[in-house]
Amino acid sequence: MAKKIQTIGILTSGGDAPGMNAAIRAVVRTAIANGKKVKGIKRGFDGLLDEDIVDMYDYSVSDIIQRGGTILYTARSEEFKTKEGQDKGAEICRKHGIDGLVVIGGDGSFRGGQQLARRGINTICVPGTIDLDIDCTDYTIGFDTAVNTAMEAIDKVRDTSTSHERVSIIEVMGRNAGFIALWSGIATGAEDILMAERKYDIDEEQIVEEIIKKRKIGKKHHIVINAEGIGHSYEMAERIEAATGIETRATIIGHIQRGGSPTCTDRVRGSAMGALAAELLTNGETNRVVALTKGEYTHYDIEEALSMEKDIDQFLYEMSKKLSR
Ligand code: ATP
Repeated sequence: MAKKIQTIGILTSGGDAPGMNAAIRAVVRTAIANGKKVKGIKRGFDGLLDEDIVDMYDYSVSDIIQRGGTILYTARSEEFKTKEGQDKGAEICRKHGIDGLVVIGGDGSFRGGQQLARRGINTICVPGTIDLDIDCTDYTIGFDTAVNTAMEAIDKVRDTSTSHERVSIIEVMGRNAGFIALWSGIATGAEDILMAERKYDIDEEQIVEEIIKKRKIGKKHHIVINAEGIGHSYEMAERIEAATGIETRATIIGHIQRGGSPTCTDRVRGSAMGALAAELLTNGETNRVVALTKGEYTHYDIEEALSMEKDIDQFLYEMSKKLSR
């Protein structure tokens, strides 16, 4: 029979993402509506090991749905990657009466959650990362806000790029994943979109040829979106300027992509995922990852979720090349 959960703990871990607060709010209020107690664990697994744990009530999550970042703070913990750290973490959960746990973060955080699940703490993971790089789900909390922030920043750079008839290399976030690059590149009509997943497809000589050809037919700007995973944007700008003779500037958008008030999508989906996590714990489930697959909220075994693979959407990628003529 499924274990009846009394107290649900909640933590955010890894990189922060807009919409995490909506998820926290949904976990807290759904759990309380279901008759559970809730404890907030500050600063991820690091805070768990430090016993930085507070009681949470309905009003603890008032006025946060519109705020970026995470009210519980986030951190990375090397100690929690060790067996001793994980044993201690499970022990601390038990000491505080936490028999169910919601972990909001990326796949590293899910591995941490899995370790606690193996030690008898019912654990549900919620995908929270701006990078969209969690393979079992089509959506992660924060991606929509981040990609809209990137799009607005690129639009602004494009205005000045056109006025000065420059080439612009614009670096967006995504160390291992090019989703922000692909989406923001399509949304801004970028001429080139470079990302680690399609590294084999990057031909700088061809980019230079295209810039020269398009300048001859009257194009006023040329935008290259470069994912963080490729990087070296300043060096690339120098090389392109030298080869084309056209002024070329690099802009790294950086951390503004992590912050800001979450979009409606991140608030609604963040709420739905948080609420589903609390419902799953109420039903005695453990070791699950909440996901949005083909438009439906669902959940997978953590092991299964971590073994899945997803790639950049090939149709979108091929389309982007044809649209950027
Ligand atoms: P993001 O990719 O958005 O930064 P993430 O959750 O993948 O998020 P990580 O830094 O990989 O970020 O992981 C966050 C924390 O989760 C780590 O600091 C560590 O405490 C814990 N963690 C990561 N990997 C493991 C693991 N294999 N076993 C146990 N705990 C882990």
